Amino acid sequence: MLLDYHMHLQPDGVESRARAEGTWGAHGGPLSVEWIRRYTDRARSRAVTEIAITEHVYRFAEARDWHDDPFWREEATEDADAYVQAVLDARAAGLPVLLGVEMDWLPHRRDEIARFLEGRPFDVVLGSVHWIGGLAVDDPSRPPMASNAPEEVWGRYLDELVAAARSGLYDVLAHPDLPKVFGTHAPPSAVERFDEVIAAIAATGVAIECSSAGLRKPVEELYPEPSLLGRFRAAGVPVTLASDAHRPEDVAEGFPTAVAAVRGAGYDTITRFSARTPEQVPVATWG
Ligand SMILES: [Zn+2]
Ligand SMILES: [Zn+2]
Repeated sequence: MLLDYHMHLQPDGVESRARAEGTWGAHGGPLSVEWIRRYTDRARSRAVTEIAITEHVYRFAEARDWHDDPFWREEATEDADAYVQAVLDARAAGLPVLLGVEMDWLPHRRDEIARFLEGRPFDVVLGSVHWIGGLAVDDPSRPPMASNAPEEVWGRYLDELVAAARSGLYDVLAHPDLPKVFGTHAPPSAVERFDEVIAAIAATGVAIECSSAGLRKPVEELYPEPSLLGRFRAAGVPVTLASDAHRPEDVAEGFPTAVAAVRGAGYDTITRFSARTPEQVPVATWG
């Protein structure tokens, strides 16, 4: 079986969305069954039989006050319950789609995060460290290494990744080696912590994703890169597959590479979720 458990119905940023509006306009809008069907159709064309839509929590007005960054506040325009209903409607129409959310890890907002999740019927919750304090990890308009040493960014990122895993709020950690996005790989001070970090994550039972999104970023690598994925496998950390598509065309994009990496790391199974309960299913060979 192949799954894609990370994607968004709209691109990030007001201007990108304005440009994309025409693409979903003919389908009834980004929350319509017809728009979601474009994602499941693309998945099926790439042998992926189940997807999870995992909208960013920062798109929702309900989370607007969680962070005072201008980007965060500007993005928080959608209604979370309308989103939930849209995905449930798509499933009721017979589409193989799960309800997910990409939930930022904000250590000072763990109560708000828990409340947001409790009241809604999510199948899978991704945990993402996009922020270390006020520093955006992967915003191309302000790359963190431009103003901070790699040792500092990577060190603080790994601290937050472990804290996110230990919070018990998440099912899957998204793009676990994200700070490399613009091409600055982990410095020795971070690499020497990887075993300790992976052991800490393994102890929590949370899964990680193998994401093809990095192939479309300046770093041009999977998250995590294959040898790091092998270390997660050796520690017993379960895995999902992810494209992080922000448009239908990118669903399961790069999956031949991702599936080869998962199998190459020694995984025979990937993790499927329903109502936040994991199950291991055999991972298909690509093609
Ligand atoms: Zn993300
Ligand atoms: Zn994402």
